[in-house]
Amino acid sequence: MALNRASSLDPLYDDQRKRGFRGLRFSSFLEDDFRRSYASTGMKTARPILITIGLVVLAVTAYTLLAGKISPFMMAYELLVLLPVLIGTLLVSYRPKRYAIYQHMLALNALLIGLIVTSITTRASLGGMPYFFAAEIGYIFAVWLVLGLLFRHAMIVASVISLACLFGIANWGFSPQEALFNSIMLILVNLLGAYSCYQLEYAARKAFLESQLLNQLAERDGLTSLHNRRSFDDYIERIWRQSRREQTQLTIMMIDIDHFKAYNDFYGHQAGDDALKKVADVISMGAQRPLDFSARYGGEEFSLVLFGPVGGYGYDLPDQIRKAVESLKIPHEASSVGKYMTISIGVALVMPGDERSQAGAIQMADEALYQAKEDGRNRVVVKESVHAHIQTGRFRAPKRLTA
Ligand code: GH3
Ligand code: MG
Ligand code: MG
Repeated sequence: MALNRASSLDPLYDDQRKRGFRGLRFSSFLEDDFRRSYASTGMKTARPILITIGLVVLAVTAYTLLAGKISPFMMAYELLVLLPVLIGTLLVSYRPKRYAIYQHMLALNALLIGLIVTSITTRASLGGMPYFFAAEIGYIFAVWLVLGLLFRHAMIVASVISLACLFGIANWGFSPQEALFNSIMLILVNLLGAYSCYQLEYAARKAFLESQLLNQLAERDGLTSLHNRRSFDDYIERIWRQSRREQTQLTIMMIDIDHFKAYNDFYGHQAGDDALKKVADVISMGAQRPLDFSARYGGEEFSLVLFGPVGGYGYDLPDQIRKAVESLKIPHEASSVGKYMTISIGVALVMPGDERSQAGAIQMADEALYQAKEDGRNRVVVKESVHAHIQTGRFRAPKRLTA
């Protein structure tokens, strides 16, 4: 089996930053991640606005009802359409996982309210109160900038409301001056709102990418770009729980460079660093499935964890990694093992959920590594937990791999 070169630093965020996002859309799952984070900040700020609007709708309906001015159609619209959608949006805003539904419902709210606002302001203008038009302008501005809608949603909502308004202006006997003035104002407020909304979302996307990149950097080792020890500790805790839940096998490998101190002493620290990077690159290739994980455990020690059964590509992965490092042919005159740099690997095959703890599992891999060193280095030693689920003999990992 050939080992593919896997990148040691997830390039998605950086790629996206370089490719740009003028169309306000990220590729693949970055878009979902962004929308989730964007919605979760928006949810908090939108709640007081939604509650206020709900109360205003109730108050206005009650007032117009008492004054006998409300048409049955308006009352049905407000109480049977607008209010339920408002309450629904409010409820969904407490469910961060439902962020996509929330964003669509918020846009629907903005549209439903906008149509009422347009109807009221248009009728008021016709009834001799042209200053009501200011409310229309203010509302369209709010659609673009206050509610926290995505640009694409704001664009649809603002366009429908503005077209409804223009339709009223064109068909319902406005004076030519007022029609002209209102139309120009509508276009201007939309241009200004769209420009600002675009800039806001663009800045939010940029900040999102940068914060993700920073998070990634904080989880990486500066020299090798592999995950660092802190990140390994977090990972192993999560993956332990997951594999316990799913009753899935974990393969924990501890990998240590042979006679590295002597290498440093012989070739110098800088050469030692370069060699570490090359070995780290090989190790990172071993983590090929989404939940596999490679890390610099410390110094010249690495860890590779495989989640799930190790059939197929993982059949004899530890030994492939050992051989791959050997075939880098990094000269190592000071080694007692051979002419080139080599590694020793301790493997623990465990089924979380049995009597063993996660620290115990790492210790088991450590013991296997210790034994590989004891047995002469440049080899793989496998230990298995005694749990019945573990199938034996999955790794071809004999005690003596090399002559
Ligand atoms: P063994 O075969 O038993 O593993 O022997 P070893 O010499 O590899 O093990 P030991 O733990 O005695 O030495 C590890 C060396 O790794 C000591 C330290 O100088 C070196 N080292 C640790 N981190 C780095 C690093 O970031 N850069 C370089 N150049 N050397 C490092
Ligand atoms: Mg060593
Ligand atoms: Mg060591």
